[in-house]
Amino acid sequence: MDKRFAEQRAIVIGAGIGGLAVAAALANHFGQVVVLERDELPAEVRPRPGAAQTRHLHVLLSGGAAALAELFPGVHTRLIEAGAQLADVGADANFELAGTPKLPRRELNIYSWQLSRPLLEAVLREQLRERENVQLRELSRVIEIVPDENNRAAGVRVESREGKHDELDALLVIDASGRGVPTLDFLKATGRPLPTETTVGTDLTYGTTVYSFPDGAEPDFKQAWVHGKAPEQGRAGFLVKRENGLWDAVLAGRLGDVPPIEDDAFLAFADTLPNQAISTALRRGRREAPIVRFGYPESRWRHFADLTDFPVGLLPLGDAVCNTNPVFGQGMTVAAKEAVMLHRLLAESGGHASSLETIGPAFLKEMEDLVKTPWSGATALDLAYPQTKGERPADMRQRSEYQAGVMKLAAVDPDVHRLMVEVRHLVKPANLLHTPDLQQRVQAVLQHPAASS
Ligand SMILES: Cc1cc2nc3c(=O)[nH]c(=O)nc-3n(C[C@H](O)[C@H](O)[C@H](O)COP(=O)(O)OP(=O)(O)OC[C@H]3O[C@@H](n4cnc5c(N)ncnc54)[C@H](O)[C@@H]3O)c2cc1C
Repeated sequence: MDKRFAEQRAIVIGAGIGGLAVAAALANHFGQVVVLERDELPAEVRPRPGAAQTRHLHVLLSGGAAALAELFPGVHTRLIEAGAQLADVGADANFELAGTPKLPRRELNIYSWQLSRPLLEAVLREQLRERENVQLRELSRVIEIVPDENNRAAGVRVESREGKHDELDALLVIDASGRGVPTLDFLKATGRPLPTETTVGTDLTYGTTVYSFPDGAEPDFKQAWVHGKAPEQGRAGFLVKRENGLWDAVLAGRLGDVPPIEDDAFLAFADTLPNQAISTALRRGRREAPIVRFGYPESRWRHFADLTDFPVGLLPLGDAVCNTNPVFGQGMTVAAKEAVMLHRLLAESGGHASSLETIGPAFLKEMEDLVKTPWSGATALDLAYPQTKGERPADMRQRSEYQAGVMKLAAVDPDVHRLMVEVRHLVKPANLLHTPDLQQRVQAVLQHPAASS
């Protein structure tokens, strides 16, 4: 592909999934792409302190796997060779959201990609290192984004581990730092307003560990996702097969209900889940790692698209814009899809420095649209708990009834089951669940429950 910005440099702040994905996108268009990461980027597969969530379960949804394949040709083969497990979301999943109809196990040919987050990062880094115009610089903390005389973003100031400061100019700076601090600081420093934020409190705590199962003791599923009935119970559990014959086990509680880190109490917590799939499995397995906790206080969506004077030359992406309740496993997929969006916008552009004046607002607007589906899906469950902080949509009751109707249909109709999963995995748009035909069927099933059979 001809590079539109062959003489130019792009900088990416952060080498998480968002940063790695967008670096691959930019490498198609820019002469040089520099990724600056404050952590060490280890050759071996291990979690990193800069992204503390890398110790915890990270499932890649089908839509995210497709987006990564557009950016990293051949990545699916590499992931499988590295040990990633594919789980058919219908046939291989023990899925239960208590209070909704139990979905039968049936083949849907839609897959969760199950591998540890450090392994996914390692494979993506390996592919990026093969691209001659990409540099991954570890132990390089971005201290600030530097403005030009017109208050556009013109580069960054970086600090090395030894405390040495360096300035690097760029036509485009991407903030994939997770928290988005560099962008917020830049807006403040250049006298611009900060974006409005929508927040929904989750007050969720993960207790995570790793299990192995002796021969013959493996569960008959590759993925269990069991969630209590809202609003009565906020507990959840996940047990997911990944590389090296290991399984990620997570128990989660919300609103101050914290999973224990002692073995017996951990198992007793698992016993309280709506079904015993996870607790039975764990009792047959062996714990291979300490139980570690992670607190996730709230989901947050920053509406950068609404700012009329957002700086040219800067684009935030991934968690820096929006993070949602991790039990839905959408964050990496959203970030990868955003990188694909930017790739398309750059490919369609004229390739002049001034193109960024139109690409920026278009990207922020498309990102706002992309985030709507994962945000409303995840927060609908969170907001069902009365103690959860956050504004409830006026039509919340109708939305949740409609969702219940779709699930009832999904239980008896494989096509609706598949479509529901495709929307959840960000493969298909959510409006396909609202076609006139489906709306009619959902109304029928809600008014006359027997109509679903
Ligand atoms: C407990 C938990 C479980 C999750 N499970 C899933 C899941 O199952 N599936 C899923 O898709 N998503 C999951 N997510 C979400 C997922 O982690 C993120 O949404 C996704 O990785 C995109 O994040 P990101 O790349 O924007 O930010 P991050 O992954 O947070 O990466 C940001 C990077 O920027 C670096 N950085 C920060 N500041 C600077 C700086 N100033 N200079 C240089 N580098 C900097 C950090 O060190 C880090 O490496 C989970 C999240 C949590 C918290």
